[in-house]
Amino acid sequence: MNIHEHQAKALLKEFGAPVAQGVAIFKTSEAMAAAQSLPGPLYVVKTQIHAGGRGKGRFKELGEEAEGGVRLAKSIEDVVSHAGEMLGNTLVTKQTGPEGKQVNRLYIENGANIARELYLSILVDRETGRVSFVVSTEGGMDIEGVAAETPEKIHTIGIHPDTGVSEADATKLCDALELEGVARADGMKLFPILYNAFVEKDMSLLEINPLIVLDNGGLQVLDAKLSFDNNALFRHPEIEALRDLSEEDEKEIEAGKHDLAYIALDGTIGCMVNGAGLAMATMDIIKLYGEQPANFLDVGGGATVEKVTAAFKIITSDANVKGILVNIFGGIMRCDVIAEGVLQAVKEVGLSVPLVVRLEGTKVAEGKRLIDESDLDVISAGDLDDAAQKIVAAVRG
Ligand code: GDP
Ligand code: MN
Repeated sequence: MNIHEHQAKALLKEFGAPVAQGVAIFKTSEAMAAAQSLPGPLYVVKTQIHAGGRGKGRFKELGEEAEGGVRLAKSIEDVVSHAGEMLGNTLVTKQTGPEGKQVNRLYIENGANIARELYLSILVDRETGRVSFVVSTEGGMDIEGVAAETPEKIHTIGIHPDTGVSEADATKLCDALELEGVARADGMKLFPILYNAFVEKDMSLLEINPLIVLDNGGLQVLDAKLSFDNNALFRHPEIEALRDLSEEDEKEIEAGKHDLAYIALDGTIGCMVNGAGLAMATMDIIKLYGEQPANFLDVGGGATVEKVTAAFKIITSDANVKGILVNIFGGIMRCDVIAEGVLQAVKEVGLSVPLVVRLEGTKVAEGKRLIDESDLDVISAGDLDDAAQKIVAAVRG
């Protein structure tokens, strides 16, 4: 789960990280009071969407020459006029895709005078199995570019779980970021704070880009992206309360209600599979035959007819889906339950695209009979390879 920048900053502030003063607003009429509550004289008006690259983003409704989704303002009047221009419009960034995201809230922040822009993130390094800092002096711009062109400018420092951020770790981080004086002293305090926040709140990513050195020497968190491990959210109702459903895929929200493991993707073949491994294999083989999956969907081991029906409805509600592949291995899951679910769902929502079903395992004969005896137009497949080729052929017409 992701949260907005202003929420991330409030959270990091609770742990003691240096952030600027700011106020989140939802209406242009709130902009003036928000700005008046800040010291000024420089302000920043920042769109709050769950996507990065806002500064370089462009609004669909405004011309190319209009400013992006992060704007500096030198007066309260400018804050108000920027807010009016941004709220309700659609911001397109590198991360939103061409359709962009509607801006429903802004963060009005006190402006900072920046000496240097640095990059810092914390994540779990799967190779070492450790929570690790990734830092670079080349912050602010696109870090993927830095990683591709000048990888030597990116430093990874793993943290031992028994000690947390030691003095030696913090020193290494200060050196990697070339921090001196006040900034160095701030860094020695900040790194353990960020690490503790990451661990305590079960984050999967903490990214500060940029972490800035102010012109007066200190450090400040200028941008913040936090992602949380969904499997640990039950331990953090205060984090779950920050969830903004308008930023999430509707199909994923619906899937969550039915306890389905579903992730929306960009392709055309809707997949209904049981078991994460089989789901991955199904996606791979669709790609092997030249098409793209529209989703990852694991209906799980003990799915009921209701759950299968819900899954089928979610798949068919996706306008990109040009064909559906049901690939079930009945171990714990019974093939006849799947078949019943598919029939039930088709009865409720109809079927306007080709459907390939491959069933194998427990009660497979009963499952196949149910489908054969229905008047459903199903293409049945023998094995996974056959199923993938059939659905690819079907969506290609
Ligand atoms: P992003 O484009 O979505 O990553 O949004 P950021 O919050 O990182 O802001 C983009 C850029 O705007 C930063 O890299 C800064 O250069 C600039 N910026 C943001 N806040 C301030 C500020 O308070 N003062 C100044 N001078 N620039 C800022
Ligand atoms: Mn940023």
